[in-house]
Amino acid sequence: MRVATASEPAPGRANEDLVRTGRNWAAVFDGATRRLGEDGGCVHDVPWLVRTLGAALAELLDDPRAGSAVPLPDALAAAIEATMAAHSGTCDLDDPGSPSSTVAILRERDGLADHLVLCDSPIVLCHRDGHVEVVQDERLDRLPGGRPYSAELVRALRNTDGGFWVASTRPEAAYRAVTGTAPVASLRGAALLTDGVSRLVEAYGTGWPALADRLARYGPQALIRQVRETERRLGPRGAVKPHDDATVAWITWDDEPAERRG
Ligand SMILES: [Zn+2]
Repeated sequence: MRVATASEPAPGRANEDLVRTGRNWAAVFDGATRRLGEDGGCVHDVPWLVRTLGAALAELLDDPRAGSAVPLPDALAAAIEATMAAHSGTCDLDDPGSPSSTVAILRERDGLADHLVLCDSPIVLCHRDGHVEVVQDERLDRLPGGRPYSAELVRALRNTDGGFWVASTRPEAAYRAVTGTAPVASLRGAALLTDGVSRLVEAYGTGWPALADRLARYGPQALIRQVRETERRLGPRGAVKPHDDATVAWITWDDEPAERRG
């Protein structure tokens, strides 16, 4: 497999997304933006959280002995535990506003593509027969009362059954992720997206097949350019921010170059 990536912050902001790749895997993370004046009992910033989580996951998946065999939820649970250990001495991990991140992972092993989605960073599987399959964790979209959610509601329902799950201070969140496995032979590509990119579909009405087609033709950088152009042209839609951090990992299994000029 080959992986092309791009990650861009919302204009004028620090990037709270992260993309990591290894020989046979890729992952994207979207750290939850803090509300003004809240620190969630943590002295670290959101980029620290996604960087630490990403590094811990990379160490496990790159391990030549265990990396390809370990189930993705086990790897993510261990990465969450390692992240907790990295700030348990300085921060209050019982704070319900403790920093958190979405996670999407795809890992190839023995002709199979294992995937995991935790919270709203979807994976798009592009099958060779033309079928575009979207792996989504929609629990954050279905909280009681509908959007916009109050900060209290999100804190109360975060990492609870009946609410939604994210990577933060509960390792068991990894076992609540949406997971699956597809034969690599049936795939021509797979995209891991943060919601700063999937908003093209969810807020602006682009179809998933059109998004996948643009990625296949022009690559991740061009897709993020399309996001920014669309945001500027159509303005904020619904409750979404005008711009968000935007991250793509585009995995291909054909012999075509992953990125072509368009
Ligand atoms: Zn901390």
